[in-house]
Amino acid sequence: MGDREHDPRTTGGLQSRLDRRDFVKACMAAAAAVGLPATVGLRFAEAAAAGLKPSVIWLHFQECTGCTESLLRTSHPDVGELILDLISLDYCETLNAAAGHQVEAALHEAIEKNDGKFVCVVEGAIPTRDNGIYCQIGGRTAQDILTDVASHAAAVIAIGSCASWGGIPSADPNPTGAVGAPEILKGSGKPVITIPGCPANPYNLLGTVLQYVTLGTLPALDDLGRPLFAYARVIHEDCPRRPHFDAGRFARQYGDEGHRLGHCLYALGCKGPETHANCSLLSFGEVGAWPIGIGHPCFGCTEQAVGFRKPLHAAAELPADAYPPIEPEHGTSATAWAGVAGLVGGALLGAGFVASKKLGETEEKS
Ligand code: SF4
Repeated sequence: MGDREHDPRTTGGLQSRLDRRDFVKACMAAAAAVGLPATVGLRFAEAAAAGLKPSVIWLHFQECTGCTESLLRTSHPDVGELILDLISLDYCETLNAAAGHQVEAALHEAIEKNDGKFVCVVEGAIPTRDNGIYCQIGGRTAQDILTDVASHAAAVIAIGSCASWGGIPSADPNPTGAVGAPEILKGSGKPVITIPGCPANPYNLLGTVLQYVTLGTLPALDDLGRPLFAYARVIHEDCPRRPHFDAGRFARQYGDEGHRLGHCLYALGCKGPETHANCSLLSFGEVGAWPIGIGHPCFGCTEQAVGFRKPLHAAAELPADAYPPIEPEHGTSATAWAGVAGLVGGALLGAGFVASKKLGETEEKS
């Protein structure tokens, strides 16, 4: 772990705060957390200790840098430390110590040295309107840089909703024509894994990197390029507030009794029922720090058709089978059923649920 090069132009001078024992433990815990065997974490730790670190080139385009910030602020384990120990981060505009021609030279060197072998991580949307002039670095458009760098990469990981499908920059009226990396690279034959989220959950990046580097494979993906280990289920399925939903107990205003008691946030606009992500199982930032965990409805940031598209407090679509199979003759739940039905309205009960259909499809693929 102490073998990182100290090149002031790049991020190689960053030092780890994890000793070897903690590092191995953290690798195993991280692997287990994202559904990989703990032995994968062990193998990865050994490979990293032997200096076998994959080269990563991290590009930044139209974004707030929130995904990088989220990564660097994690703990339990410190995913930022882990990732920076496990990979050779050869270029990252946010973390590079240098700027200008020096860092441009570092990018070209990194590409040449690891041609066809490095992983390209993309953060931020790519503007396409007016020949992409709304985001330029070193005199080149984001579109040009991505196309060029990706053509030399082994695989591309689009981190965050912006890079996955446009995110905030693509919100109506999308003045810059912002799109995600898959749109720019479609037809290139380059595998693009998307890890949407605003910000993306760093553990999902870690799991993808762990698998790619240790096993040489990419995780199974859904039809939007999202790893199934993280995006196969909707948040509503594993939400800790789900018992309140099933029982018809809702917060109806911020700060009301239901809100203070931790009741379901559906009536406040929670999009958990139509949002595929593992936030409820693997929170990030700090323990328990995810929107629903701190009393705010999910706004659907991992879904292109939901986050930044639907009004924040509009009711989410519910799957037709959103309710537990209540048999009135068995007793006591009829009141709760009536309460829930009254809340969501009869129209929603018969509505098709796109996300559920997707889940069915991805499960078939896995
Ligand atoms: Fe959780 Fe939201 Fe579903 Fe309520 S509606 S159970 S808060 S995901």
